[in-house]
Amino acid sequence: MTTTTDLRPPRTGHRAPRRAGLGALAVLLAGAAGLAYGLTDLPGSAADDPGRAAAGAPPSPAEASREGTATGLHPELERRFLAAQRAAAADDVPLTLTSGLRTAAEQQELVDEAVARYGVPEAYRWVLPPEHSAHVQGLAVDVGPTEGAYWLQQHGPDLGLCPTYTNEVWHFELLPEGAAACPEPRPDSSWAW
Ligand SMILES: [Zn+2]
Repeated sequence: MTTTTDLRPPRTGHRAPRRAGLGALAVLLAGAAGLAYGLTDLPGSAADDPGRAAAGAPPSPAEASREGTATGLHPELERRFLAAQRAAAADDVPLTLTSGLRTAAEQQELVDEAVARYGVPEAYRWVLPPEHSAHVQGLAVDVGPTEGAYWLQQHGPDLGLCPTYTNEVWHFELLPEGAAACPEPRPDSSWAW
């Protein structure tokens, strides 16, 4: 027996149950190269006190790519995410970063795994190649758990964090500079391939 049966993508014609989709991708993302990490690993005040972060925070792989932030994300994205996390906590909702900055190699690994597991073109609806991925640029965050992702769907646009794809409830990018409101989310990431 193989595991392909229960990992097969949903048949066309109906939308996948959202929680099932989130679970499947969370497993995929978490299983690839140890990309997932909890935000509890981050120094909570790093965004407010860069000096302290520089002095005391342990180095992370992300810092090699983008100095000055604990996550390696674009500084504004990190600042907004931490603000969102505090606002969610005030609502008693957990909100963690499950995947942020990825190297091109890590992103390619996700692509390869998704294609192997889901086939083409289904994989293209979920994972972008490195040259198109906002994660590789430090400009996207994947959040969890499910409760937190749905909280951020509701409140993110007011906090400058925009849902980007309707099939990825966990994925958010910065409100574009100069934009008054988040753009309409795209159905999935396949448009960019
Ligand atoms: Zn993402």
